[in-house]
Amino acid sequence: MAVLVTGATGFIAQWVVDYLLKENYQVIGTVRSQEKADKLHKQFGSPSSLSFEIVKDISDTEAFEPLFKKRGKEIDVVLHTASPFHFNTTSYEKDLLIPALNGTKGVLNAIKKYGDVKKVVVTSSYAAIVDVSKFADSSCVFTEKDWNPATWEGCQTDPMNAYCASKKFAEEAAWAFAKETGVSLSTINPVFVFGPQKFDEDVTSQLNTSNEIVNGLMHSKPGDKIEPNYHGAYIDVRDVAKAHVLAFQRDTNGERLGLSNGSFGSQTILDILNEKFPQVEFSKGPEPGKGDTAPAAAFDNRHSKEVLGFPFISLEQSIYDTVSQVLKKEGRL
Ligand code: NDP
Repeated sequence: MAVLVTGATGFIAQWVVDYLLKENYQVIGTVRSQEKADKLHKQFGSPSSLSFEIVKDISDTEAFEPLFKKRGKEIDVVLHTASPFHFNTTSYEKDLLIPALNGTKGVLNAIKKYGDVKKVVVTSSYAAIVDVSKFADSSCVFTEKDWNPATWEGCQTDPMNAYCASKKFAEEAAWAFAKETGVSLSTINPVFVFGPQKFDEDVTSQLNTSNEIVNGLMHSKPGDKIEPNYHGAYIDVRDVAKAHVLAFQRDTNGERLGLSNGSFGSQTILDILNEKFPQVEFSKGPEPGKGDTAPAAAFDNRHSKEVLGFPFISLEQSIYDTVSQVLKKEGRL
């Protein structure tokens, strides 16, 4: 049984590939270059069960066609994780909205044309659920039934809004495709994903976008002013990987699986850092020991937790594993 993982070089996707290989699946990963394929294959120990296909740019709606023409009949399950997740742009359509939407449409159209795929799992996001203007509204509770109300034109005000909307438009396209074709679809909708990189050697001064929150705080010094003061919800990357696999192993057709294990703020993370790594000096934050006190909208994902049925990794553990990997690499631990 072969599973296609798009965007196999990604922070989340590498853990998904790892999980799949440990469960003895044949894995086909898409990457943007042969160089990336060679590096990743070697990092996983060059197993014969892992192979790669080059998909250079998912903005091109036909980017997946050659792959499906060649190997479509082998693929039973598609886990579509590839999508831009960064805030370094002002070309919102070109760099965020179009690749997210066309990538999803492109892979689904290729499945329809050439594939024999039984199950599709799309990595969406809490960003497709939340109303960004209500982030700090503690009277709001979002669930897996909610949708980000962003519009294509209205979201192009800043990278955060545009990214969140890109996830909404991509996910909407996936559900429309499932309705039209009857393919079995579920989506994974995580909040901010923390956790270690799959391979220590990939720890660099800049981490993937969500871990940059932790990276900034772990490089703070005593007395530093903490800006921006983040508030949000978190889930560990290893739980996100597990959810992708369970999503196709079980009957989760039609489910939006919301992944969150509770809220965090910059102060919560600094409190954990100062407690777990007493030998390293960090900022103590504006209100040491108080954790996150800022008002925030809540994400009630009890339904998804019930469907998945496994306990999520704690914030303390997730932060400890993320930070100790970096501190070791920097020789500070
Ligand atoms: P990464 O940036 O680490 O991974 C993104 C992946 O998508 C990479 O493999 C990247 O390739 C590929 N990609 C991006 N743009 C293109 C493009 N134009 N053409 C081809 N490939 C492309 O991000 P994450 O692992 O954090 O995110 C993975 C998925 O999870 C995304 O869909 C994201 O929206 C979603 N998500 C992430 C959350 C998080 O907190 N991390 C939270 C909720 C959802 P390359 O490596 O070559 O750049």
